[in-house]
Amino acid sequence: MTKIFLKRGKDESLRRFHPWIFSGAIHHFEGKPAEGDLVRVFTAEGVFIAVGHWQIGSIAVRVLSFDDEPIDDAFWQHRLQVALDARRSMGVADNPQNDTFRLVHGEGDNLPGLVIDVYGPTAVLQAHSVGMHLVRQQIADALKAVMGPRLQNIFYKSETTLPFKADLGQENGFLLGGDGNDIATENGLKFHIDWLRGQKTGFFVDQRDNRSLLEHYSRGRDVLNMFCYTGGFSVYAMRGGARLVHSVDSSAKAVELVNANVELNFPGDTRHQAFAEDAFRYLQQMEEGAYDLIILDPPAFAKHKDALHNALKGYTRLNLRAFENIRPGGILFTFSCSQAVNKDQFRMAVFTAAAQSGRRVRILHQLHQPADHPINIYHPEGEYLKGLVLYVE
Ligand code: SAH
Repeated sequence: MTKIFLKRGKDESLRRFHPWIFSGAIHHFEGKPAEGDLVRVFTAEGVFIAVGHWQIGSIAVRVLSFDDEPIDDAFWQHRLQVALDARRSMGVADNPQNDTFRLVHGEGDNLPGLVIDVYGPTAVLQAHSVGMHLVRQQIADALKAVMGPRLQNIFYKSETTLPFKADLGQENGFLLGGDGNDIATENGLKFHIDWLRGQKTGFFVDQRDNRSLLEHYSRGRDVLNMFCYTGGFSVYAMRGGARLVHSVDSSAKAVELVNANVELNFPGDTRHQAFAEDAFRYLQQMEEGAYDLIILDPPAFAKHKDALHNALKGYTRLNLRAFENIRPGGILFTFSCSQAVNKDQFRMAVFTAAAQSGRRVRILHQLHQPADHPINIYHPEGEYLKGLVLYVE
């Protein structure tokens, strides 16, 4: 296995268990790794410090272990078992009301480059690094061993998440099983999961707790679920007793999905309608005071730090339309999933919108990603989802 020696002093962040090694920290190699290979990393003084996956790019090594241990079947089984035990203690696994959860959240589970979401009998495995891609079958086998008979299918979905330059020619497909059942349960509600064509792994598992909170604010309200995708918030609002629910997404496919999910839970219920429309256009044209509960859950406006300024302006513009329009006494659930935008910056963007609208606004809740998307305390970059629940006078 190739050895990597760091420049003097560049082991400091690793001593604090930060799981990335940047290419600029490397002094020299002993051997020549191929992309995705395991490498052992040493300090300038020649002391072992980490083992991980090598990749070409600014993050050169993603650390799998700070112990000098073999990365074998037993390693993968142990890590996945730790992850599953954590989900059990969170009450999201082994719960008859809920079989939808994130089992592995990359660095948050000490497995940089790997995401695994569980939807009933199916797990969707996603690699974000070449190293994880190369050992996908080994991970799938370990996952089957840890989950046992409850797991029937493993779908591998990494066509769009691997570095383009690595040219892996990756195609999505089943590593285990291939069952057509696509229905998963979240807090007692049912959802079709389109792992084949859907965004991310087919569903936004990260809004589970926030959807539950929304349910409690929905009774008797007229709800607009903007950027609805598969309609998670819409279905919870309906169970919560909303008077009407309008779901909006620019994608016609999303509108199909939300209609199917509403029908699955509330067949024939006429309180719901979905529209394929651009958010800004819809918000511009909607009648004033049409809604008294609005959800804004847009896609990440800033994928990189250099897009930050425009992203913040985008959040302000979007929220301004909601503040200008929402009925007095209305509630706004507003989110940002941009990792590059921090909590304070997002709050400032929303503050600016509130001030421009001239409405009186109170913060009722400050929201974030759920427990099954844990943040490794040594890797604060893992914090990405933030939200505010606002009361608008
Ligand atoms: N709230 C959803 C997740 C939203 S993902 C949930 O709980 O599952 C963001 C969604 O925004 C995507 O479905 C995407 O199609 C939609 N979208 C992106 N740009 C848009 C725009 N300009 N107008 C409306 N929808 C848009």
